This record gives sequence, structure tokens and C-alpha cells, in this order.
Amino acid sequence: MITPVLPTYARAPLSFVKGEGPWLIDEKEDRYLDFGAGVAVNCLGHANPRLVAALEDQARRLWHCSNLYNIPGQQKLAERLVALTFADTVFFCNSGAEALECAIKTARKHFSAKGEPERHRIITFEGSFHGRTIATISAAGAEKLTKGFEPLLPGFDHLPFGDLEAVKAAIGPETAAILIEPVQGEGGIRPVPADDLRALRALCDEHGLLLIYDEVQCGYGRTGKLFAHEWSGATPDIMAVAKGIGGGFPLGACLATENAASGMTTGAHGSTYGGNPLAMAVGNAVLDVMTEDGFLDHVSQVAGRLRQGLAALTETYPDVLEMVRGEGLMLGLKCKVDVGKFIGAARDAKLILVPAGENVARLLPPLNIEMEDVEEALRRLEAACARIQAEDGS
Ligand SMILES: *Cc1c(COP(=O)(O)O)cnc(C)c1O
Repeated sequence: MITPVLPTYARAPLSFVKGEGPWLIDEKEDRYLDFGAGVAVNCLGHANPRLVAALEDQARRLWHCSNLYNIPGQQKLAERLVALTFADTVFFCNSGAEALECAIKTARKHFSAKGEPERHRIITFEGSFHGRTIATISAAGAEKLTKGFEPLLPGFDHLPFGDLEAVKAAIGPETAAILIEPVQGEGGIRPVPADDLRALRALCDEHGLLLIYDEVQCGYGRTGKLFAHEWSGATPDIMAVAKGIGGGFPLGACLATENAASGMTTGAHGSTYGGNPLAMAVGNAVLDVMTEDGFLDHVSQVAGRLRQGLAALTETYPDVLEMVRGEGLMLGLKCKVDVGKFIGAARDAKLILVPAGENVARLLPPLNIEMEDVEEALRRLEAACARIQAEDGS
């Protein structure tokens, strides 16, 4: 018999009822160290007092009023994002998939408004993840996402990851854009080398294409810069953002240059909830914290220690772990043992991790995690490794 909640998730046997900073507390009052952060969402930890205050304050004034009116918090957050990035304009929505939908529509509309509607194809990459709508599963293309949902949205060319020659060969008169995650998340924490991002930027300039980044997971301070692509200096024309931008409140955004957004005129796009006053109050509070002096330096500092500790674990337990990869606090442990087994052992040690492709366990702690919590996580990971090794060795 089908469960009341549509059974599309294989859920771990845990029910959390409370959070405090990097800790999750379940029904039995057991405390778990949260290195999943709701899949890179709770970037400032759980129940962050500044975010709670911003939400409570706004909740007493106005929850929702529709985009038929000016929303001051939206203007403020858009102005701040424009000042901090390559972008000239921002559309607010509620999720990553919606941010990607807006990105795809913006790219198509750019060319159709220029009188080149035949230029509508978008190059994407294997191992990518862009959300669960028909357009975004069509963009990613993996069978595990698309099977049974055909007919898919046409117009995507799926290329192997990390093959620049394939990109050059795929660009044709119908190509509009290249869509890429600067660090693949669901695909198994695979960073795109900075040189490759710069090469993609150059190809887009050469052929008049739009470069679209999906920074839904790798953006918002995760890698130690506000956006992951900043390490390369190769800016996009359009960028999808979500997850960390709301710190746990549902919020997404599509950022674009004035040129890329040239077709997005009155009536071209919309969202009932997108950028509503509650979301904007929290979004502005998240950005307040993230732009404070030293915040991103802190991310790099704790990330350095975490990575070093993980590298040591892979050396001590080569039968359990294969390698560490990723950037900043977006790290992956590629496992030798089944990743589900590893994450289960970590859970038994009361440490929360998230699985990804390529048998990788993701570590995505809150960005304001303290060094002592990183040390505690490393102790718990060591316990998990030791237990697996003892069981497998016996
Ligand atoms: C999570 C994610 C999405 C989809 O976001 P939703 O909020 O689940 O729609 C898109 N792209 C990337 C890179 C993601 O990690």
C-alpha cells in the first residue's frame, strides 16, 4: 500500500525535531553532528539567532503581497547581489530547479528576441544535476533522472565531463549556451578545473554563446569565495543560485548580465511566491553574515583542516576510503566500500553525511562551523572507518 507521503525518497531512519548550530537533535534527544546541512542549505547552521530574528520580525509585518507590487527587501537583495557579482539583474524564485528554469528561458529568449530563434540548444555535461523539473532533468540527461518521463524537453546536447574538444566539436549554428556546475555536487563533488572554465568562457565569447553556471550547490560561500567560479576569474552571463542563499528558507535566484537578460521584458516570466517578503528578510540576513569581515576566510581555514584530516584518514584506511576531492567546505570522500555502508557507519557514530554519485560521501557542513566541531567530525569519521575495517577484516 502506498505511503501517505509519496515514496520517492529512501529515507534514513531518523526524525529530527530540533537543530542548534551544527547539531541536529532527534525524537530520542540524540545529538548528531550535521555535515550534510540539508544538502548545503543550512549554511549558517540551524536556528541561527540572526536568521530567526529576521524571520520573526518580518513575520509580524507582512508575509506575502505578490510581485504585482514593489517588494523593498527584493530590491535591496538584488542591488546587493548585483554589487557583489558579474550580474546586472536578478530574478527571485523558490528553488534551484526554478532558478535553472529561469536561466534556460533567459538564454532562449535572448536569442529569439535578437531574431535568432534557431539558436536554442544548450550544451550540458554528464554527471550534472540541475533539478527535477522536466526541463532540468532533460538538461542533465542521466537515465536515472529521465527514465519514464519521456518525452523530454528537446534542445540539450549532453557531453562528457571535462572534455573541451567535445565542446568545440558540439558548437553549431543552433547552439545558444553552455550550462555547467563549476563544482558538480550530486555527480560526486567533481570540481571543473579553473583552466577549463576560462576555456569555456573564451569559447562562448568566440561563438557569441551565453555561459550559464549552476552554482546552486557550490555557490554562496561554500568554496571559500561567495561564488565558486570566482577562483577562476571566468564570469558567466547567467547564473542559477539557491540552497545556501536562504539558509534554510526556500529561496532561489537567477542572476544575469543586462545583455543576457535582454529578452526578459514585462510579462516574460513570473512566480507567485518568488522573492516574497519572508524569503527576502532571511536572504538579506544571510548575506549580512556572509559579507562580514573574515567570514569567507573562516570557511577556508576550517576547510583546510578538514581536508587535511580527511586525507590522513584515507591514508590510514585505504580499504575503506579512496580519495578526498572538492573545494572549501564542499568535500567528497570517494569510498572503497559501498558509500551507503560508509554513511551508515558515520550515522552510527552520530555524524550526518550525504551520498553523491561515483560512490562519494559528501561533507557539506554549515559554513560557520567551529574548528572544534571539525575535530569532532574527524574523530567520528575515524570511528566509522575503524569499525568498517574491523568488520571487513574479520
Ligand atoms: C540541488 C540542486 C539543484 C536543484 O535545486 P532544488 O532546490 O532541489 O530544485 C540544481 N542544481 C544543483 C547543482 C543542485 O545541487
